[in-house]
This record gives sequence, C-alpha cells and structure tokens, in this order.
Amino acid sequence: MGRQAGGVQADLLVAGGGPVGLGTAVLAAQAGMSVIVLEPRQPPVDKACGEGLMPPGVAALRALGVEPDGVPFRGIRYLAPGACATAYFRHGTGMGVRRTALSAGLSARAEELGVQRVQAAAGLPVQADGWVEAGGVRARWLAAADGLGSPTRRALGLDRPVAGPPRYGLRRHYRVAPWSDVVEVYWSGEAEAYITPVAADVVGVALLGPRGNGFDRMLGGFPQLLERLDGAPPLTPVRGPGRCAGWPPAGCTAGCCWSATPAGTSTRSPGRASRSG
Ligand SMILES: Cc1cc2nc3c(=O)[nH]c(=O)nc-3n(C[C@H](O)[C@H](O)[C@H](O)COP(=O)(O)OP(=O)(O)OC[C@H]3O[C@@H](n4cnc5c(N)ncnc54)[C@H](O)[C@@H]3O)c2cc1C
Repeated sequence: MGRQAGGVQADLLVAGGGPVGLGTAVLAAQAGMSVIVLEPRQPPVDKACGEGLMPPGVAALRALGVEPDGVPFRGIRYLAPGACATAYFRHGTGMGVRRTALSAGLSARAEELGVQRVQAAAGLPVQADGWVEAGGVRARWLAAADGLGSPTRRALGLDRPVAGPPRYGLRRHYRVAPWSDVVEVYWSGEAEAYITPVAADVVGVALLGPRGNGFDRMLGGFPQLLERLDGAPPLTPVRGPGRCAGWPPAGCTAGCCWSATPAGTSTRSPGRASRSG
C-alpha cells in the first residue's frame, strides 16, 4: 500500500466487504479512485439471506461487471392460508444467487480493479483535516458498509431509530428441484418464509420471525411449504440469526427490499465518513 501526503493510503476506505461494501468499492474503483476494503472475514462471505436479486439488482451487478451463477425467476408470489397473489416482473428477470457466489463474484471483480483488502474490523474511526482512519488504514474518505447493525454507523452517531419490533432471519438450503419460476413468500401468523431457487436442484429457505423461535419450529408454521419440500434433505446448516430491524423498512412494500443490492447509496455524511447501504 503506497502512502500519499498525510500518511493517506487510499482515496476511499470501505468498512465491510458485504455486497454493499464490495459494490461501493467496485464503483469507486471504476471511477478511478484507489480503494481499500476492511473486512474481518475471508471471502466468500456467507450470510442468512433470501438470496433473491430483483431485476434492477441484476442490472446493477452487470454494470459493475459481475454476473454470478444463479437461477432466473420471473416474479414474486405471496401465499397465506386461503390466499395467493402473483406479480410477474414487467421487465427483466430476477436471479436467485447464493451469497457465497455473490461474494466471490464481487470480490473477484474488486480485485481485478485493484481494490485492496485488509482482513480487519474497522473499529472507532478517527477523523482529521484531509483524512479518516479506521482499522489501522488511513484514507481520504470512509464508506461505512458494515451491515444493518453497523458498528461504524453507531460510532459515528448515525444510528436512526427503527420503527417496529425487530425480527430475526434464519436460512437453510434444501436439495430439491425448484417447483416454481417465481420467488415464493409464505406468510404465517408470526413469520414469513422466502423460497428462492438458487440452483437446478437447490432452493433456499429464509425465515423471518421473532427471536428465539428455532428454524424447525418456524418452518412447522408453514404446512403448505412443508408439503412442497416433501422431506427434501437439508443441504446446509441453519445460518443466522440475521437481525432485521422493522422488516420491511418503513415506506417499503413487502418485496422492495429484495432489490437491495450492491449499488449502495450514502445517506448522511459527517466529516469524511458516509454510510452506504
Ligand atoms: C433473512 C433475510 C433475508 C433476506 N433476503 C434478501 C433477499 O432475498 N434479497 C436481497 O437483496 N436482500 C435480502 N436481505 C437483505 C440483505 O441480506 C442485505 O440487504 C444485505 O446483506 C446488505 O448488505 P451489506 O453489505 O450492507 O451488509 P452485510 O451483508 O451484512 O455485510 C456487512 C459486512 O460487514 C462486515 N463487518 C461487520 N462489522 C465490521 C466492522 N466493524 N468492520 C469491517 N467490516 C465489518 C461483515 O463481516 C459483513 O461481511 C435479507 C436479509 C435477511 C436477514
């Protein structure tokens, strides 16, 4: 890592190497900035997630030069006892993409563009005239992309109150051929289940519900889904919990969060740091 005036090692330091952090890094590198990503985990990074990318997310990834393997889907279907509604996309298709495939694709593209990776957590950022430092790296700007519970956002005083009770996400994959060309969202009294095709013989099951309800217990609340899974063998261990504060976010219809993909947007910027996501 070369040093510029004031000990600055890069134009942009990105805290967090998830989809938003890596997407931000690739965008910045494409714009000619030198970029360092701080990520404590080794890629490919996994996470409890529904793994469904909406058509604009797929297009955004393509614009970044990333086309991970996945399974196309044509829309979203909501199912509750005695009710069902399907909406097909007017333009394009979505993609079911394993988080590990998304992480690997974005990491490879970032590396190709010269983005450097430092395996460390950001810690408390220190700001001065012309630079900001976190995780032992000094840069001109800092983008906080360290997830929903962002420690960097909290340290910078950017946390905002979230409406609604928190919910917790758990995810598991099953070896079964996808039975539908849409992502299915099942509703029970206390939880939601997102079913996404991610390979020719694999579907992902992501459950969102209150804390403390185990995966199998929550899954038991979806008899229609259990029938579909038909005893299919689990392929991955239960992963989670991913905390979802007030899901879906206020002002967001139930499906719009699914387009939350790499093109992170900064919301507020105190000094030299901004929050991406
Ligand atoms: C159950 C569930 C289902 C979902 N389904 C979908 C879906 O189908 N489609 C969709 O688009 N979205 C879905 N989401 C939302 C999606 O997972 C998030 O929008 C997405 O992961 C946000 O990406 P991110 O990069 O901001 O954060 P993350 O993916 O959380 O990445 C943050 C990264 O920051 C790193 N980090 C943490 N602390 C630090 C630190 N101090 N310093 C440096 N790095 C740090 C972490 O290791 C992590 O790699 C779902 C979420 C849940 C919980």
